[in-house]
Amino acid sequence: MSFTVAIVGRPNVGKSTLFNRLLEQRKAIVDDISGVTRDRQYGVAEWNGKTFNVIDTGGFVPQSEDIFETEIRKQVRIAIDEADCLIFMTDAAIGITDLDDSMADVLRRSSKPVLLTVNKVDNNERLLSGSEFYSLGFEHVFFVSSMSGSGTGELLDAVTALI
Ligand code: GDP
Ligand code: MG
Repeated sequence: MSFTVAIVGRPNVGKSTLFNRLLEQRKAIVDDISGVTRDRQYGVAEWNGKTFNVIDTGGFVPQSEDIFETEIRKQVRIAIDEADCLIFMTDAAIGITDLDDSMADVLRRSSKPVLLTVNKVDNNERLLSGSEFYSLGFEHVFFVSSMSGSGTGELLDAVTALI
């Protein structure tokens, strides 16, 4: 049985940085069916002796903040369909944005597990300010720095616990 985790979140929160850190091997795109699914990278990761697929959404085409909200919500819905578990990434350096709120709405309605991941927690100050993300109402919240790798072990433990 193969298990798939999709990393979703607004542009520039650090999805690709985490993806590259988790990756054991990069896979070619299996089915390039639309412009939306073309915009993602597929890889294989291993942790705690378990192997799983990872999808980085917004993978190839550089995205900007002014990308249409409807487009991002569509990306999230596709990721929910495609994955067994979602890593919902946000940015502690910026805080909660309208787009985060909008994506959270879509993700809360998903029946799949959502691991809210507050990225760019590079220091204690960010850890304190990052606590505002609890207000999004997700059960699982992780504070990580994808750049240094701090906190990513706990996140991966949570992923592999679902497999
Ligand atoms: P994406 O658009 O969500 O895929 O974001 P990227 O992975 O391309 O990262 C966007 C920017 O955030 C880049 O300049 C990264 O170097 C930076 N970044 C990613 N993770 C961290 C982190 O943990 N801490 C800090 N300070 N910057 C980060
Ligand atoms: Mg990216």
